[in-house]
Amino acid sequence: MSNVRPVVGVLALQGDVREHAAMLERAGARAVPVRRPEELSELDGIVLPGGESTTMSRLLATFDLLEPLRERIAGGLPAFGSCAGMILLAKQALDGRPDQHQLDGLDIVVRRNAFGRQVDSFEGDLDFTGVDGGPLHAIFIRAPWVEKTGEGVEVLARIPDTGDAGAAAARIVAVRQGTVLATAFHPELTGDERVHRLFVRVVRDT
Ligand code: GLN
Repeated sequence: MSNVRPVVGVLALQGDVREHAAMLERAGARAVPVRRPEELSELDGIVLPGGESTTMSRLLATFDLLEPLRERIAGGLPAFGSCAGMILLAKQALDGRPDQHQLDGLDIVVRRNAFGRQVDSFEGDLDFTGVDGGPLHAIFIRAPWVEKTGEGVEVLARIPDTGDAGAAAARIVAVRQGTVLATAFHPELTGDERVHRLFVRVVRDT
């Protein structure tokens, strides 16, 4: 389907849905909001936005989306999660709520709010594998980091290992496993659609 606009859903229960939809459209996809299980069938890919993973997890269950979405992703539906979306896609979240659900689309362990209270939000430039055109400006907001990756998980970006990065130095903040991508930061907030273009390419090639 290389010439058509793929249909990419944005999980629209909570979080920065509009921002992702706008970036997907700019990246060549048709973005549609997803709130009901029936809506999953028409999708070529799905984005799980940034927001609050515990809230989204609860709403996924309330809206009967949890199992159908888990099944679609396990069945090969390309998915991209930013921040809270990365947490949802992980197989395990540390420092989550005990009743928090995981979509289990990525063989990674993430730590919620990993960068700590003192550095709630920060920005910086990252080298990102698979994205041409120089470093990517990344916005982190109460972000997770990836503590552990399983076999088959490719690391796409890390926090630069500079002297003042402290415990954050070299931490993994973007990954890919097959057709599932995740970033601890928010590419939807920068106006730079290169990560969305990468995802739309994955969707097209699937
Ligand atoms: N800390 C949030 C969570 O646990 C994620 C924050 C974000 O998406 N900006 O879901």
